[in-house]
Amino acid sequence: MTNRPNSEALYKEACGLMPGGVNSPVRAFKAVGGTPVFFKRAKGAYLFDADDRSYVDYVSSWGAILLGHADDRVVSAISAAAANGTSFGAPHEGEVRLAKEIIERVEPLERIRFVNSGTEATLAAIRLVRAATGRNKILKFEGNYHGAVDSLLAKAGSGIATFGLPDSAGVPKSITHDTLLAKYNDAANVEEILNANRGEVAAILVEPVSGNMGLVPPKPGFLQALRRLCDEHAVLLVFDEVMTGFRVAKGGAAERFGITPDLLCMGKVIGGGLPVGAYGGRKDLMDLVAPLGPMYQAGTLSGNPLAMAAGYAALSNLDQEQYETLETLGARLEAGLNQACQGESIAAQVQRVGSMISVFFTEQPVNDFDEANTTNKPLFGSVFHSMLDKGFYLPPSALEAWFMTTSHTEADIDRTVEAFAASLREVVA
Ligand SMILES: *Cc1c(COP(=O)(O)O)cnc(C)c1O
Repeated sequence: MTNRPNSEALYKEACGLMPGGVNSPVRAFKAVGGTPVFFKRAKGAYLFDADDRSYVDYVSSWGAILLGHADDRVVSAISAAAANGTSFGAPHEGEVRLAKEIIERVEPLERIRFVNSGTEATLAAIRLVRAATGRNKILKFEGNYHGAVDSLLAKAGSGIATFGLPDSAGVPKSITHDTLLAKYNDAANVEEILNANRGEVAAILVEPVSGNMGLVPPKPGFLQALRRLCDEHAVLLVFDEVMTGFRVAKGGAAERFGITPDLLCMGKVIGGGLPVGAYGGRKDLMDLVAPLGPMYQAGTLSGNPLAMAAGYAALSNLDQEQYETLETLGARLEAGLNQACQGESIAAQVQRVGSMISVFFTEQPVNDFDEANTTNKPLFGSVFHSMLDKGFYLPPSALEAWFMTTSHTEADIDRTVEAFAASLREVVA
């Protein structure tokens, strides 16, 4: 790792300025060891680091980048918007255009409110379901991550799972008291919990495809069961599509699995790489949001003109053809990774939905958080570093999904598979 002196130097300096040298924990490489790579540039499927080494990128800004980095259409939309003012603190046409683009794509959406991150979106969504139902409890799933929201940091995936924390310090018990935890992919467990908390649960909040404990698809019938249970118990169903929205299908997971949630949280892809989140859904629910209704939520930079322009440029260039490309690329990587693991006789589960994929080094399929944690983390750490040295940037944690973009080529995928097989050979040797 001494072959990245500029990254090393920047990291050292950063550690004296920011906690752990980073602005979001997983970036610090704690789960895989070593020191984080500092980047200075990205284009298409490639990242370029402070030492001028290049990498095929499988983080893709944790899924936010879907067209590839620095896409010309997105960059020119941002430049054009910037020249006209970076923030008005007042309504503008860019918000209308992006809202229309999103609502036309996602059938359950009748109204939308833009915020600045996925965290803000889930925070507002739970406030809204409580306002709408007059109930306080929220049911969430072990291993699902909904942003760094106090009440949702119980057994959350992503960084908090990476660091092996059950929840976060600084969150009062009085706040997580209203958070109920269920096992992902276990509808019977959900039913039990709803029965034990009759008339008290405001909503079920779920990642319709789980992407924050590694990639865990919903079992056939699981999302349908949640919809049915919500209807039976007069509980609202909230899809957290911050990661899956506009990635797993043109209309997100709601379209891909044919389920109509009451509310959706969005983020990542809808900002085209700029900080954007959104929540939305049924008109009668969204009419409770101020200024129409009593649920207060606001943001100085919400609907920011640069972010709206970037999101619109990204989304309006993603049609059916792009989603088919992502599916083809994903299938190719899945087949290659499976073959590589079999070739080296390494027990592994390659799990994928569209352009999101994970390799769990474990014997049986992974359907929930406990099963995800059976993955061989030291083995992943070794493979991660071997891949990094070969020029492939995987997520620096065994419990995160890998993301492809429309800029990845079949040749990129094939080179990735070759390097992965070589890494496995090195690691088991
Ligand atoms: C990333 C993510 C969030 C949080 O979004 P931020 O923009 O990081 O605040 C929430 N929910 C899911 C499912 C996510 O993947």
